[in-house]
Amino acid sequence: MKPEMNDVSEKSAEVETQHTKLLILGSGPAGLSAALYAARAELTPIVLTGIDLGGQVALTYMVENYPGFPEGVGGAELGELFQKQAERFGAKVVFDNAQSVDLSKRPFKVVADNGTYAADALIVATGARPNHLEVPGENELIGRGISYCATCDGAFFKDRQVNVVGGGDSALEEGLFLTRYASSVTVIHRRDSLRAGAILQERALNNPKMKFMWNTVITDVIGKEKTEAVKIKNIKTGEEAVSPTEGVFIFIGHTPNTQMFEGQLRMENGYIQVDNRMRTNIPGVFAAGEAADSHFRQVITSAGMGAAASIEATHFLQDEAG
Ligand SMILES: Cc1cc2nc3c(=O)[nH]c(=O)nc-3n(C[C@H](O)[C@H](O)[C@H](O)COP(=O)(O)OP(=O)(O)OC[C@H]3O[C@@H](n4cnc5c(N)ncnc54)[C@H](O)[C@@H]3O)c2cc1C
Repeated sequence: MKPEMNDVSEKSAEVETQHTKLLILGSGPAGLSAALYAARAELTPIVLTGIDLGGQVALTYMVENYPGFPEGVGGAELGELFQKQAERFGAKVVFDNAQSVDLSKRPFKVVADNGTYAADALIVATGARPNHLEVPGENELIGRGISYCATCDGAFFKDRQVNVVGGGDSALEEGLFLTRYASSVTVIHRRDSLRAGAILQERALNNPKMKFMWNTVITDVIGKEKTEAVKIKNIKTGEEAVSPTEGVFIFIGHTPNTQMFEGQLRMENGYIQVDNRMRTNIPGVFAAGEAADSHFRQVITSAGMGAAASIEATHFLQDEAG
């Protein structure tokens, strides 16, 4: 009997290799949207979740800018709904984390913590992670005053004082965006001058709602259920203080989760390069969401890229089958 796709189809002495038509790496909005489309195309895709089931969005308390939820939706709940919808059509969501890939020949080989996979086509949706300050309290209060996305969370801080950390373009752009809601926005920057472009600097420095704290770093985020204050330190004078605030927006860069593709997929600054059909430089390998997008970084744009990658992967496999 011919083994069915996705069945264990190859065994070696040490590892079992599971064969699948389509393997999707990542269970964020891009990966699960790709899974939904592929499942509806009857490809029975396997999704490896990685260590963050639901992706970055599952970290946030409330999402108010994803269409279809006029009252907003919890980030974790949205991730669960994405998963449920993909599974309803036959996607297999597996709690496993890819460690290495071999894209030199097909089927592509992916070695994960709990198994090895051979895939006729691959969608990389491993996302990115905002760089953290790595200070006590930060991780515990993500989505409760600590944010890495002003577009996502700015509206929760109407008429409140908030802090922005960073001195580059993102920090100032997002800081200026926050002035729509916040009563005042304090930029906390470890240097005594900004790295952002001249026009942005001028706009920020001239905005009456924007204030600047130079040569300063946050050393602690304080709060139980939500952020209440930050401990700050002037790195020139060593002076320390506690500054009350309900919101801290951190923009000190993003790191795409793409290290394992280095030397195999074409990348720019760590982001996988795709064409407008989500194709990478290797036929049969597609990429979607923040792993391939340093610019938009939203649930809806990542989900859209996932859907597009999946449609394209389906065509790729169909064309091959003739
Ligand atoms: C705190 C916060 C709040 C946000 N709020 C909003 C909001 O309100 N609205 C909005 O539109 N956007 C919001 N965003 C942005 C949004 O979450 C992201 O744009 C979106 O999640 C990106 O989706 P993605 O699928 O590309 O990647 P991610 O969400 O980053 O998911 C990546 C997935 O890949 C998996 N993975 C990583 N490495 C591996 C591996 N080696 N093997 C297998 N899997 C792997 C991870 O476990 C994860 O499941 C927010 C982001 C943050 C951090």
